[in-house]
Amino acid sequence: MKINENVSSITSAVRKMAGLAEGRKNCLRSDLGTPDLPTPKHIIEATKKALDKGDTQYPAFLGIPPLRDAIAKYESKKGVAFERNNVIVTQGGEHAIFLALTGMLKPGETVYMIKPHWENYNSIPLTLWAKKETISIQDMLAKKPEKSVKVILINSPNNPSGVIYDKKILQKVAEYAKQHDLFIISDEVYDQIYFEEKPYSIVNYAPERTFIVNAVSKTYSMTGYRIGWLCGPKEFIGSIGWAIRSTLSCCNSFAQEGALAALTGNQSCVKEMVAEYKKRRDLMMKRINQLGWECKTPQGALYCYPNIKQDSWPFALELLEKANISIVPGEPFGDKTHIRFCYASMSLSEIDECFDRIEKFLKERKK
Ligand code: PLP
Repeated sequence: MKINENVSSITSAVRKMAGLAEGRKNCLRSDLGTPDLPTPKHIIEATKKALDKGDTQYPAFLGIPPLRDAIAKYESKKGVAFERNNVIVTQGGEHAIFLALTGMLKPGETVYMIKPHWENYNSIPLTLWAKKETISIQDMLAKKPEKSVKVILINSPNNPSGVIYDKKILQKVAEYAKQHDLFIISDEVYDQIYFEEKPYSIVNYAPERTFIVNAVSKTYSMTGYRIGWLCGPKEFIGSIGWAIRSTLSCCNSFAQEGALAALTGNQSCVKEMVAEYKKRRDLMMKRINQLGWECKTPQGALYCYPNIKQDSWPFALELLEKANISIVPGEPFGDKTHIRFCYASMSLSEIDECFDRIEKFLKERKK
């Protein structure tokens, strides 16, 4: 017997590094994209309350109506009016991408993944017997897509680079999608985590073909709740909703109550968390610049992504072995010579300690 090789060939650099780091004493973990800040109390309380009142059975299959309404209201603030029927509640942002691609791609069809991109995107087309092409925006705009291309998947603020695409670029991508009749999946899970300019959504340029992916995971430090959503044109969302049947019957009932509290409650917790991330970003960038590594200052999300101008896999493994620091090589994100740091998972003093260790490591390596 043999497992379908499309599945057995799935790899994860993030999980590999996390696995190697686990159990190492005093290891500084900058691998998983998970914040170390606690989930705000009012969200926990709402979740507990849901459990206490016996909210433990199958909820509505596309999501509990008040949460779908709250999501529609939240996403409408970006400029396009949505209502409940535009929204599917999913088991996290990744599940929303999976559902969208399941709804859009037949075996052999292609998704353009705008580079650099989150590594987990890679395995979804594999699972669906579809194809992916990791491509920069400039290269995509310069060519006519093959007939098999059906979708553009874009993420801003970006994991791993922290880049926020400006309006001009987004408009060009939207026009390209219109010209070649492509769907757009806009992954906006970091839409609240920005430090200067507020991100703009591509949905405004192509509402008839854009699907927003989002989640409470990062904004409210709720990665374990596994609640996200897909928001898009009604005529497609209805059909895509059926794909939820092939993955799970519906999403966790009491976690949805927590997500509802997150979206409808006081938003000062988000401001506080983002202020903390900004301090961490600034410190990490200062230390990266002192090392002389080339790195664009992240405008949002939770990562710094320097170019270390050498093969990042051996570097990452050696850094773990000798300096006890776990980071992620950039190869699965589309860049062989970059490495990704997550500054949401280390305190300010840990970031300082991390870069003290890196300085020492680099000096020893030069000898
Ligand atoms: N999209 C991007 C760009 C991400 O970085 C992540 C998680 O790291 C996700 C989607 C998935 O979010 P969730 O944890 O809600 O599935």
